[in-house]
Amino acid sequence: MKQQGRIIKIISNQYEVLDEQGNRHLCVAMGKLRKQYAPVVGDIVTIEHFSDQIGIQKIQKRKNELKRPAIANVDQAIIVMSCKDPDFSTTLIDRLIFQIAYANITPILCITKLDLIREDDPIHQEIEDYRRSGYQVYESGKGYATEELCAALKGKISVLTGQSGAGKSSLLNRIEPDFKLQTQEISKALGRGKHTTRHCELHEVAQGWVGDTPGFSSMDFSYMDVMTLQECIPDFKDYLYSCKFNDCIHINEPGCKIQEAVEAGKISKIRYEHYKEIVAMIKSGKPKY
Ligand code: GDP
Repeated sequence: MKQQGRIIKIISNQYEVLDEQGNRHLCVAMGKLRKQYAPVVGDIVTIEHFSDQIGIQKIQKRKNELKRPAIANVDQAIIVMSCKDPDFSTTLIDRLIFQIAYANITPILCITKLDLIREDDPIHQEIEDYRRSGYQVYESGKGYATEELCAALKGKISVLTGQSGAGKSSLLNRIEPDFKLQTQEISKALGRGKHTTRHCELHEVAQGWVGDTPGFSSMDFSYMDVMTLQECIPDFKDYLYSCKFNDCIHINEPGCKIQEAVEAGKISKIRYEHYKEIVAMIKSGKPKY
């Protein structure tokens, strides 16, 4: 008998697959498959029942894939950013949203610790600026409801990312009190990440699935292609490919519609400045540590 399912847990060579009826099966990867490429959590797979074991036979093409931890088919990455302790940073948010969108994952913002700032704090304007740019933004703090975030998690595979102390665990614990998040904080050096063991899991939270925290780099953009990056920025969407030059990267070329839109206040100036910084890092060809 053959079935379709999703890998929700891997411990060494064993794979837990959730089938479409909601049943869990302990499976092994068939030899042929292991040689091609190893199945990862989030993979949609075909499993076959044999007399002595259940084998994963086929992996569906992935829509995206995170490396550390290895999770495939992630729908959304929630950037958890606190207003205070640690400080709110649009530089860090933008570095993360660009990388996440570049990985073909929807970035979502969740601003925490709003109870620690005043109503007239400029952070409120910056939050509105992200909404104007077209990002989904959730607001959180002590005493804030979690319904909207729960609705966003439902039926999706999500990962949370953000600085240590931003409030990732607190946020999930308000939704699922016993939940324990495995975190890899944002690393300055991509190559210096912690050793990842062969244990990876999607946890059921608010009728959705949450994976362990990926450690995005805040410094290494050398792998990016500028033309692809600009397509990942929603502020730019209406102005792309109308510039004088087809290969315009919107830095100082004449006849650039994006620079005009920034001047006219139609594109967030902050977002544009952060785009320029990243382009400079890409052009320099190596990460700045
Ligand atoms: P993580 O490292 O991102 O998982 O952050 P934690 O969830 O461990 O939170 C770090 C600290 O911030 C803890 O002392 C929390 O009690 C506190 N904290 C988290 N969220 C909030 C919030 O919304 N408001 C306030 N005032 N404190 C918070």
